[in-house]
Amino acid sequence: MKASAFAYARATSVADALELLTAHGEKAKVLSGGQSLLPAMNLRLISPELIIDIGELTELRGVTVKEGVLTIGALTRHVDLLKSPEIAAHVPLLTEAVAHVAHPAIRNRGTIGGSLAHADPASELPPCMLTLGAILIARGPGGERRIPAADFFTGIYETALRPHELLVAIELPVTPRSATHFFHEFARRHGDYAIVGLAAQAVVKDGRFADLRLGFFAVGDRPLLADAASKLVDDAITPRVLSEAFSALDEELDPLEDQQATPAMRRYLAKVLLARGVSALLGRPDLRAGAAA
Ligand SMILES: Cc1cc2nc3c(=O)[nH]c(=O)nc-3n(C[C@H](O)[C@H](O)[C@H](O)COP(=O)(O)OP(=O)(O)OC[C@H]3O[C@@H](n4cnc5c(N)ncnc54)[C@H](O)[C@@H]3O)c2cc1C
Repeated sequence: MKASAFAYARATSVADALELLTAHGEKAKVLSGGQSLLPAMNLRLISPELIIDIGELTELRGVTVKEGVLTIGALTRHVDLLKSPEIAAHVPLLTEAVAHVAHPAIRNRGTIGGSLAHADPASELPPCMLTLGAILIARGPGGERRIPAADFFTGIYETALRPHELLVAIELPVTPRSATHFFHEFARRHGDYAIVGLAAQAVVKDGRFADLRLGFFAVGDRPLLADAASKLVDDAITPRVLSEAFSALDEELDPLEDQQATPAMRRYLAKVLLARGVSALLGRPDLRAGAAA
């Protein structure tokens, strides 16, 4: 199937893009890498009247680090995230996660801003934003808004972005040197959307979690920063403590049914990932088998 007819405008600056968005509102769609927008248009899931191509706005591309904050321009492509020495050094969880986003041809065009604005609940980058405590910067006709990742994802393909706003950048606190991370997803093939995934980061002191952030994905209509982590912090992890965390996680999950998995399978896999993540982060192979009933 082909997309229905639409008009096309190439934005020459961020101000130009915002003027076009203001003039056309919900009838317009921003085009970044086109790797989600164009398939959706071709399937006629959406039929915007105007496409505003921001692909040439180079000021929205690139990675910088300053005073403990890593800033990524919204138009930075997945391939450039993957190859960025700054990201590898300062936010290594993200480097590991991007390697699981689609396939090279898609990573060569797809952007971080497009992925976050698209808000697919099975995407790898949104849960990383929760785990890493990102701030997403949106610019609209009235100026900029700084939106904590925890408030950004509001539902399946839904975000806190307003129709006249552009996502322009993402700020991530530099990961403390004492932190370790774990990323894993169950997918039919490497590069496919996840059936269930976990992006976790922790600080471990004396064999206990001093801090633990568990960003699950494909377990509901949006990524989840699991409160179950609190059951595991500042405590000696025993099978009983882990089992309490499984129960707490189970309460928080609201998995969807699709061709890939039933909700029950997703609940099971989320608990398997929790056990594997805790085991890997603590360096305790004995906990790995303690997965879910
Ligand atoms: C076969 C295939 C497999 C894929 N597998 C995966 C996968 O495993 N994991 C994964 O995460 N993704 C996957 N993707 C999606 C891919 O990562 C996309 O690149 C990404 O989701 C969207 O980025 P984009 O730059 O292409 O955005 P676009 O397609 O250009 O835009 C996506 C949406 O975001 C909006 N938008 C884009 N940029 C902005 C902005 N700066 N401000 C406001 N709104 C904006 C658009 O209007 C549109 O609604 C896959 C895609 C394909 C085709």
